[in-house]
Amino acid sequence: MAHNENSPGTASSNFIRQIVEADLSGGRFASRRWRGSPGPAAEQAAGVPDPAALRTRFPPEPNGYLHFGHAKSICLNFGLARDYGGACHMRFDDTNPTKEEQEYVDSILDAVSWLGWSWGPHLYFASDYFDYLYAFAERLVQAGHAYVDELSADQMREYRGTLVLPGRDSPWRSRPAEQSLDLLRRMKAGEFPDGQYVLRLRIDMASPNMNLRDPIAYRIRHAHHHRTGDQWCIYPMYDYAHGVCDALENITHSICTLEFEDHRPLYEWLNDKLADLGLLARPLPQQIEFARLNLEYVVLSKRKLIQLVEENHVDGWDDPRMPTIVGGRRRGYTPDGFRMFAERIGVSKGNSWIDYSVLEDCMREDLNSRAERRVAVLDPLLLVIDNFPADLVEQCHAPNHPQKPELGTRAMPFTRELWVEREDFMEQPVKGYHRLYPGNKVRLRYGFVVLCTSCDKDADGRVTAVHCEYFPDSRSGTPGADNYKVKGNLHWVSRAHACAAPVRLYDRLFSHPFPGSAKGRGWAATEDDSGKLHVEDGNPEHNFLDDLNPASRREITAMLEPALRDAQAEERFQFERHGYFVADRVDSQPQAPVFNLTVTLKDSWTRHGGR
Ligand code: ATP
Ligand code: MG
Repeated sequence: MAHNENSPGTASSNFIRQIVEADLSGGRFASRRWRGSPGPAAEQAAGVPDPAALRTRFPPEPNGYLHFGHAKSICLNFGLARDYGGACHMRFDDTNPTKEEQEYVDSILDAVSWLGWSWGPHLYFASDYFDYLYAFAERLVQAGHAYVDELSADQMREYRGTLVLPGRDSPWRSRPAEQSLDLLRRMKAGEFPDGQYVLRLRIDMASPNMNLRDPIAYRIRHAHHHRTGDQWCIYPMYDYAHGVCDALENITHSICTLEFEDHRPLYEWLNDKLADLGLLARPLPQQIEFARLNLEYVVLSKRKLIQLVEENHVDGWDDPRMPTIVGGRRRGYTPDGFRMFAERIGVSKGNSWIDYSVLEDCMREDLNSRAERRVAVLDPLLLVIDNFPADLVEQCHAPNHPQKPELGTRAMPFTRELWVEREDFMEQPVKGYHRLYPGNKVRLRYGFVVLCTSCDKDADGRVTAVHCEYFPDSRSGTPGADNYKVKGNLHWVSRAHACAAPVRLYDRLFSHPFPGSAKGRGWAATEDDSGKLHVEDGNPEHNFLDDLNPASRREITAMLEPALRDAQAEERFQFERHGYFVADRVDSQPQAPVFNLTVTLKDSWTRHGGR
């Protein structure tokens, strides 16, 4: 894809880049050799040369659509691989059979490619390693590092202790290894119902770090898996699987968000034990944490995004107001805009909130250079040029891009009756108003200068048409044009040629910068039943739905210049004086485009202090 080539290769440094550079120049991974595990085997077959090269991975769980926060992680991981001659693995963390679906796998791959990144031969699934993970579990049991427990879930919680109280050993902790092994094999064989037994790592029930209090490695789950079908009825927990997958794939730097910092000792303990047993090769991958993206005026929690979709607060995952990659795409956001955003916000260890306008500025900047200019009247008012012949059509020419003459011009028919913006006329002008009012001259951009003479009104006093006279020698680009000095320069569309089209004007989905949180800036983490941490934006006590912006979507019928009739789905334009718009990729039909507002020309939100 084109944006691969022209993407900024000059990423600014950050603490992760410094670690990577030090590791590469110090030869930290130089002793790596192929190990014949599933990942590297595929690589060798694909001719990837260097087992010592930098390896990162992007490891989404296929249980939702990717959001703007994932874009940060994707650009970070794939960007490092690009800049340091390594590889970034696309790996699905599909260890949780009941929540995962092929639809999500497809949408995630699509989003990563659309952002302009390529995983090459490195597409993996945690489920690819189920045999390894299980075999390693047996070895851990034999070595005394794991045991089968049969406390109930409630008992286990009680034995686990609290942040201030140490946990207590389960009575089954000292079960002989042969007995645990036998039970583990029978768990795998399907002899027991869900929840009867679990496999736990034998670490330290008194550790101040709760993650080290004998975490669960395997649980029984009689559930169908989207890739392995009914082959397994025990599934590995996230913490058990993740580090092992990283090591099997020769990952050098396993980059994750800050809430996993307390899991790092577990990550290291497990891989270290497996390396001691000769099952994994050193040097082992290094986990590095960075601050997740928090973006004002949206939510970036999968649970909340799912709720927005399922309760129909939005029109699906790709609703242009959704902070999902597919939503942004449909909104008209660009891959390069996202990459610029990731670069601009940088990477750090400190949690912070990013103003939504930072993202919008990136999109504006990218669109300003790439989008062709067109004319659209969003709130049409009829302008009649009384001295213009009724059957005359003057072809005016407008540049497609003011800074890129190579993009050429297009014809815009100028006729007696035109559409102009309603706000471009005032019967009684306020001070400083230079647009249409009786007695004033303005230029109709790329066309002629007109003198406003009067207006028509309906019974309610609402203006229904504006009357003007034009000056035939004032045509833009002709020698006489400069003789006319006017302050207003308005856009217009010929009534007879206009394409009437639906245009959706979008605003922020939430009217509060920290949806669901009165005070904001708080975040809390909860754990799901696979042991994975989920971070909630805002204060979970408040309902984020109360902060939905009721005016986040408005549909109007606009009058477009005739050239826009040919707009292709996903084609992006600047509508002069308004903003950037995209032809909706779902609802546009040939010769009948539907447009979405991507972003206004200026940051009207900040200017008005919110709406
Ligand atoms: P949930 O919201 O359910 O906790 P998740 O968004 O973390 O899920 P994953 O599929 O686990 O979803 O995420 C894949 C990767 O994206 C992980 O490495 C995770 O650290 C990263 N990631 C997720 N959210 C953000 C974010 N807001 N900013 C940066 N990276 C993120
Ligand atoms: Mg997560």
